[in-house]
Amino acid sequence: MSKHIAIVGAGPVGVVAALAAVQQGFRVSLYEAESRVDDSPRAATTHSSTLEMIARVGLIDRFVKEGLTARYFQFWDQAAQSMVAQFDHEILKDDTPYPFVVQTEQHKLGNMGIEKLRTYADAAVHFEHRITAVAQSGDGVTLTAQAPGGEVRIEADYVIAADGGRSALRKALDIPFEGMTWPERFIVITVKDDFERLMGCCYRNYLAHPDAWTNLFKISGDDMQGRWRAVFPSGVDETDEEALSDAAVARRLAHVFPRAEPYEVLHRNIYRVHQRVAARFRQGRVFLAGDAAHVNNPIGGLGLNCGIHDAMELVDMLAAVERGEEDASVFDRYERRRRQMNIEFVQQQTVNNKKRLEEKDPAVRAQALDDIRRIADDPQRHRQFLLRSSLIDSVRKARTIA
Ligand SMILES: Cc1cc2nc3c(=O)[nH]c(=O)nc-3n(C[C@H](O)[C@H](O)[C@H](O)COP(=O)(O)OP(=O)(O)OC[C@H]3O[C@@H](n4cnc5c(N)ncnc54)[C@H](O)[C@@H]3O)c2cc1C
Repeated sequence: MSKHIAIVGAGPVGVVAALAAVQQGFRVSLYEAESRVDDSPRAATTHSSTLEMIARVGLIDRFVKEGLTARYFQFWDQAAQSMVAQFDHEILKDDTPYPFVVQTEQHKLGNMGIEKLRTYADAAVHFEHRITAVAQSGDGVTLTAQAPGGEVRIEADYVIAADGGRSALRKALDIPFEGMTWPERFIVITVKDDFERLMGCCYRNYLAHPDAWTNLFKISGDDMQGRWRAVFPSGVDETDEEALSDAAVARRLAHVFPRAEPYEVLHRNIYRVHQRVAARFRQGRVFLAGDAAHVNNPIGGLGLNCGIHDAMELVDMLAAVERGEEDASVFDRYERRRRQMNIEFVQQQTVNNKKRLEEKDPAVRAQALDDIRRIADDPQRHRQFLLRSSLIDSVRKARTIA
């Protein structure tokens, strides 16, 4: 009988891991605490390297169809209301079959993945199963879940903990989550108004401003009618209530593009932002993946992308062990590869991206914007910048780590 992998968390990382695992011949059970996939506004930006993985699990056509394809992204000097530089993914056409970004909301990936998962006899999806405890012996893992009918015990050969930033499994295993929390929170505002028409920007935009930077991007929405999402920093001393008030929301949107009519606000949210990496990505037969293993600010759209890379690396490694091509000593390679890639590519880039957008010193700010303009103007540096920002370099580098 094939080995059993229990996956905790039906976020996008857990769902992709489950799909990859059943496709590699494992018996898979996916456990989600809630009764449905979380559809709050979170990740949408999916980079070329990750699109290649979504293609591997057989979801790419639907994923592209349910989202928006963004060939370009732009940096703006918001204080001057002018575009500084535009990057064009087409320059990566010899590096990837997907030389663009796809903006598809993460809950769509979760839902389409679960739908596909249900077509496999060896995959089971259990909503309303909250994992509360984990115990391990030498050759297996026992999970305890709180389910509608009472407590359930689950036996598995391996466990993938994809249970998000507050991971119950990471805490149960006593794995430190090292790093820091930013003093400001991030405000996410979704509007119906079309910023491309208003300001001539593209579908993905990073607006630098010494007082209040903005990330501005378009998503298709569940009705495919199009939405614009803007992410702003709160003031350090501003309360959540103040930041989410009608007046503050209107003021922030007017700061992006001033106009007489009010914006049509569809959704608003505020959340805490961290830069943290788990001290260990594996304990025995339990592996951490996605936000359970690492969290970061969303500037650059890298967190979920990195989580999907974790899922694919992990399942490929477990499958190679099951086929007898590798022995269990490669289990530690998962941590060596994925932890380093997260620190080197995701933590570093997202911290630098934030710093570039919020720089207050006028000379340093001018230099940073000038640097980005010069990178965009030089084809070789333009390509190198995109290889790094789309995590293609990270995939290539990970393969070299033994
Ligand atoms: C505003 C915003 C914008 C973002 N933009 C981007 C972007 O553009 N690109 C990008 O790459 N990343 C982005 N991110 C980050 C991205 O949203 C996360 O990295 C992503 O959600 C991680 O997925 P996950 O599956 O690891 O965890 P989650 O999506 O958090 O899923 C974890 C799941 O586990 C379940 N769960 C928790 N505990 C238990 C338990 N004990 N038992 C069973 N189930 C449990 C939860 O209910 C949840 O469904 C953004 C984040 C935010 C907040």
